[in-house]
Amino acid sequence: MKKLFLFIVMLSLLLFGRGLLKTSYGQDKKPNVLPDQYIVVLKDSVDDSENAAEDLQKKHNLSIDFIYKKALKGFSAKMNTEKLEKVKADPRVLFVSEDREVTYAVKEDGVRGNGRKPKPRPTPTQPPQKVPTGISRIGLNSTNEGVGIGVAVIDTGVDLTHPDLAANIPLNANTTCVTGTSNGNDDNGHGTHVAGTIAALNNSIGVIGVAPQAKILAVKVLNAQGSGTWSSVICGIDWVTANAGKFTIKVANMSLGAGGSSDNNCGNSNSDPLHKAICNSRNAGVTYVVAAGNSGANASGFVPAAYDDAVITVSALADSDGQSGGVGTATAYGSDDTFATFSNYGTVVDLGAPGVSIFSTYYGGDYGTLSGTSMASPHVAGAAALYLNKNPGDTWSQVRDGLKAVAEVKGNGHTDPSGLHPEPVVRANAL
Ligand code: CA
Repeated sequence: MKKLFLFIVMLSLLLFGRGLLKTSYGQDKKPNVLPDQYIVVLKDSVDDSENAAEDLQKKHNLSIDFIYKKALKGFSAKMNTEKLEKVKADPRVLFVSEDREVTYAVKEDGVRGNGRKPKPRPTPTQPPQKVPTGISRIGLNSTNEGVGIGVAVIDTGVDLTHPDLAANIPLNANTTCVTGTSNGNDDNGHGTHVAGTIAALNNSIGVIGVAPQAKILAVKVLNAQGSGTWSSVICGIDWVTANAGKFTIKVANMSLGAGGSSDNNCGNSNSDPLHKAICNSRNAGVTYVVAAGNSGANASGFVPAAYDDAVITVSALADSDGQSGGVGTATAYGSDDTFATFSNYGTVVDLGAPGVSIFSTYYGGDYGTLSGTSMASPHVAGAAALYLNKNPGDTWSQVRDGLKAVAEVKGNGHTDPSGLHPEPVVRANAL
């Protein structure tokens, strides 16, 4: 028995050991709690979270990183156990949560940048515009381009001067929550790729997005290696919530996540500040679209994917030819027009979208091909922008239901041999 057990352990290490070393969301379900780093949520009765944070900082000599005002009343800080107990006992404090690591939801084998800044060089020659397979697969909309809708890309940043994006990026409408960076510019490539799928320009060069006249708001919460923290993501959500009116932010895309679970009560039952922040931002009129994750597991074990009461969760479809019907060549992650083998699944998933070998904009004025539920989510974020262009007053759940109502059902262009994916595939041309 012992020998058999050892054999299984060795085999598991051989099969999964490589994955555990990788940081991309979905490779490792472990929550990655950050030592001595906490998120303090204040009671709603606290008038001014900045005053309260500064008072607590002076009282207990705290090292505060972020102060939250709109999506949450609260702050993040580093503190030892002794200080933690004192802060918890303060009557203004609702709850204190550990801070955790989050990562982007891309398959790392496809990331060319992966933390290395592009070498300083002239902007590459721009290729003639072509419609990426993912865009044609969900149906390029010829009449609705999502004009007037702001979409926040909560990610590694966006290449603010990319020739196929810049006209959709308003000046001084970006931010960073990452130490050592000064604005929402991209130093990884991932966020620029996501942005291109949402709103690359309909011009003569590069690619075209789902909503080529939507505006892109770059919110940098992940570092050059594609990792961040709950506290940095909440900083991004706080900025989106505070600026939703000013920049007409109606949609936010989050192609990121980590292990976690949902109480389906906006984090009030299980003291989850990320969930609470998203719910408050949603209440301010922002529809959140998130990646299901790449673990080939039930998405209910990952956040924000699991927040069924607050977000639209997106799984990845494998499509090789931009057409429905399953006649294309097989992809590295499954047959044409089936769900990608890496994609998370489950009842919290609302829609599927193309997420294998997706061609889009990349940092350094460039273009690149990436796979992951990271790439599926922005197809739906773009579709949400189209929907909101036509139905500007609708709430997030009406957006979700509206997108589902016109989506492609199983058997009508895609199949699901896995039996794990009852969710329909998003359609953009009917919006
Ligand atoms: Ca273009």
